[in-house]
Formats: sequence, C-alpha cells, structure tokens
Amino acid sequence: MNAAASRKQLFIHGLGEKLDSLREQGLYKPERVLASRQGAEVVCDDGRRLINLCANNYLGLSGDEATVQAAVKATEQYGYGLSSVRFICGTQTVHKQLERALSDFLGMEDTILYAAAFDANGGLFEPLFDEQDAIISDALNHASIIDGIRLCKAARYRYQHNDMADLEAQLQAAAAAGKRHTLIATDGVFSMDGTIAQLDRICDLAERYGALVMIDECHASGFMGAAGRGTHEHHGVMGRVDIITGTLGKALGGAMGGFTAARREVIDTLRQKSRPYLFSNTLAPMIAGASLSVLQRLSASTELRDRLHANTAYFRREIATLGFTIKPGTHPVVPVMLFDAKVAQQFAQRLYELGVLVTGFFYPVVPMGQARVRVQLSAAHSTQQLDSALAAFAQAGTELGLLNR
Ligand SMILES: *Cc1c(COP(=O)(O)O)cnc(C)c1O
Repeated sequence: MNAAASRKQLFIHGLGEKLDSLREQGLYKPERVLASRQGAEVVCDDGRRLINLCANNYLGLSGDEATVQAAVKATEQYGYGLSSVRFICGTQTVHKQLERALSDFLGMEDTILYAAAFDANGGLFEPLFDEQDAIISDALNHASIIDGIRLCKAARYRYQHNDMADLEAQLQAAAAAGKRHTLIATDGVFSMDGTIAQLDRICDLAERYGALVMIDECHASGFMGAAGRGTHEHHGVMGRVDIITGTLGKALGGAMGGFTAARREVIDTLRQKSRPYLFSNTLAPMIAGASLSVLQRLSASTELRDRLHANTAYFRREIATLGFTIKPGTHPVVPVMLFDAKVAQQFAQRLYELGVLVTGFFYPVVPMGQARVRVQLSAAHSTQQLDSALAAFAQAGTELGLLNR
C-alpha cells in the first residue's frame, strides 16, 4: 500500500476505534427498526408489537389516516416536490397558506418555513444580530439553538438553567458591556425533564431591560395552552414574545419541517438573509398541505389536546402510585428516574421484552447520576394501552427492585 492510501486507512481505523470506545462505554446509540407506521402501537422489524412511549407524537397525528390523506391530496394537487429553493421557483399557494395559518395559530404577524426546526434555529441569529448585540441563552437549550448562536457574531451569555436570578445577572452584564440589542433565547419546554420555561418572569425581565425574547416551541406547539398555541399561551404572555421557532415534525403532524414566527420585518429579513432558507430546498407540498389540515383540525376542536392531557395526568398519577420516582410536572414528557445508567438500560430492555418501547437516557444526554427512561404520552394512547404499559413497568420495576416502598 502506498503512503497516501495508508493515511486514508488510518482515518477510517481511527473512527472505528472511537466507535468501539462508545460501545464499550454503553454510549453507542443503536436504531430500532419499525416495520409499521408511527403510533401508540408499533411493529418492529422482528415482528414484535410494542406500545410506544417514546415518540414526540403528542397528538397522535404521525400515522393518523386523516393526516396521511391530507398529504396525499396535497401531493396530487401540487406534485411531489419543487426542485427549487423558495425564492427561485419554489413557493406555492400551499406554502403561503401554511405560513398565514401558523401566524394566526401562534398569534404572530408573519411566519417563514424551513425544512426543519434545526434549520430555523440554525438560521435565526446570524441575520438579525451582530457583534454589537448580545444573546443570553439558557444553559440547557437545544443543540440547534446552541449551533445557531455559534454562527452569529453577537456576544454570548449563558444563564443557569431556568434560573431567573442568573438571567437577570446576565442581562445586567450585557447592559454593562454596552450591548445594543439583547435577545433572551430559551426552549419553551425542555424535553429531557418536561420543564416549562418561566416565560412570564422571563418576559417581565426582558421588558425591564429592553431585551427581546425568543422561544423554541418544539415540545409545546399544538398542545400547550388552552388552544394549544404553545408555552406563551400557557403562561398568558401572548404578544410579549418576539420570536417563536418550532417544528412540524412533532405534535403538528410528525413528518418534518420547521418555522420561525415574528414581526413582519424580522421574517422579511430572514427571507432575504437566512442561509438554511436561501440555500436549501422548499418544504415538500405534502407536508405543507398536511400541516395546514392539522392546524384546521386543532382550531376546530380541542379533543386531541384534551385526550393528551388526560392521558398525561393519568399516567403521572399511576406511575407514582406504583412507587416510581418521576420528575413532577404537567407536561406529557414524564421522566421516570432510575439514576444509574446501567439500570436505565436494563430497565428499558426488560420493558422491550414485555412489549413496551421506551428509551433509556444517561450521561452525557442528562447529568451524571440522573439516568432515566423518558416516557412521552400521546393523545393516541388508549387507557387500555396505558394500563398494559403500567403493568409492564410494575413487573420490570419489581424484578429489578426499583420501586419505592
Ligand atoms: C426536536 C427539536 C428541534 C429540532 O426539530 P426538527 O424539526 O426535528 O429539526 C429543535 N429544538 C428543540 C427544542 C427540539 O426538541
């Protein structure tokens, strides 16, 4: 082998070693293969039927027949795709209709669509803020917010997760540094714990210091608040949040796609300058059409939202009664705390054998010693399915000696 070829070999070999080390540490993430639609129950490629408690399918729309049919209808009308970015020849009436419908649903002036919320966050900060500005970010914000802020020249400040005293200290620091515009950026709901950001207090602080507020609503849009508009509705601060980003890939249908909603000037600026929007393909019309039908359905009835919250309250109560330790709260993300990484993996494996799909989370995804399985409820779960899942939790918990007595 010549020297050039062996250098290439070294590269691949190095990656192989790093992957082996991940496996040894139990940090390697295998993928479960589903042979069915997403839903309250799924069928794996080994034929096993499982109750699914780990999808972001909060409203149960991912495999829902009406959603599928709305996508089919939009495909028939608008075709499969656009083979274009939005500004060249990739904008159809369905995209404009969805942007309008999202603005109305969220209570914002205008909305821009992206291929993913990761892109919405990745392309948000750099066009709007520069070195004269400051961005103050919650320490546990989603990776896409962190990456988006990295791409922007604004000064970066970080506050301790959910800590309002520290947020105020960072606002003071940005003011003392003479920063022109300051933006507070936070997840509306933090997905590992189901923690809801204290948006009322964040807005109070922002207004006291003349700062803007941005929230990422990926785990809130469609079901938080009385009409499911999100965390800003839940906390009674609609009209006080400046920028909302979110996904079409969780509660609002579950395919893919993201958005940013804000004042018209903000959205117009993003259309002109946001790189994931300018240099990436248009959202497929089937997703735009199906998302539109989802928003219409959510405006017509609170039924799915009500079922989700009833399922959440039921599961939270029953799992605690069984003797498991959960993080208290009201969100459909229910962290069942097992603390030890190995135990979390064993427990998830045993539940799989008993017909329940959950994932163990451990360091570095959550802090050391805080391993857990994260249960996510869905409007699609029947009480019978939840009872079966709870029985499996009880059995696995008893076998592994995990129940508080
Ligand atoms: C899932 C998620 C994203 C990414 O959403 P995609 O549309 O899948 O790219 C961004 N932010 C948060 C908080 C999320 O949970």
